[in-house]
Amino acid sequence: MVNMCGSKLIYAGKAKDVCETEKENEVIVAFRDDITAGDGEKKDNLKGKGHCNSLISSKLFEVLEENNIDTQYIKLIKSGVMLSKKLKMIPLEVIARNIATGSLLKRFPFEENQKLNPPIIQMDYKNDEFHDPMLNDAITIALGIATQEDLDNIRKITSKINEVLREFLKEKGILLVDFKLEFGKDINGNIVLGDEISPDTCRFWDINTLETLDKDSFRQGQENVMDIYEKVCAMIVDKEDIEKWGI
Ligand code: 5GP
Repeated sequence: MVNMCGSKLIYAGKAKDVCETEKENEVIVAFRDDITAGDGEKKDNLKGKGHCNSLISSKLFEVLEENNIDTQYIKLIKSGVMLSKKLKMIPLEVIARNIATGSLLKRFPFEENQKLNPPIIQMDYKNDEFHDPMLNDAITIALGIATQEDLDNIRKITSKINEVLREFLKEKGILLVDFKLEFGKDINGNIVLGDEISPDTCRFWDINTLETLDKDSFRQGQENVMDIYEKVCAMIVDKEDIEKWGI
């Protein structure tokens, strides 16, 4: 099947396609304009969203690489299309939280917007059928999802990613409230950050006004979702890259 990447599809997610390249250890990741929420129950297609997310993810992966964190990112080939290392993905949603909001408030008696220091790192099972349930280490290991060593390593890397991104985004006027990461293993068995880091996967708030700059705008049914994605893209991505690739 030929698609947005122009080569054979390996996997179609809710908002991205992963496709083959001629090299066995590289894939193409194409960011689609589809947007979903609530286990895919709420859906739309927002022109330009895939493009924005590919630029934001590329920039944030570059920042992490500069800080010696391994990511799947190789380069942006064209708008919305990223050349990446091929990873064997681990079915975990690793969530880091600096401020209590979202599902945390529905499940536990935190105060809304309570600062979480140290940040909470939570692991959910990436499984729509079971509605991404929260895991503990014993369940994760018993299911064969990851080893204790993998989990310790993932937590260490996630803490570092949180520190690096928090600092970087603060300078851009963005408060990093929480975010979700997905990891995989490369051909050498190293744990590498995969997936994307974008307004689809993070809560970004304007540092001064606390205005939502992410997918919560879609979850809440706001009309100006694309304006918000374009605004956050302009805040994060270098001007030259926006000029090169456009918004
Ligand atoms: P919450 O658990 O509060 O709904 O989400 C915490 C953070 O993880 C938010 O930044 C949210 O965007 C992200 N997140 C959690 N689960 C998912 C998911 O299944 N898909 C995406 N794209 N992001 C998620």
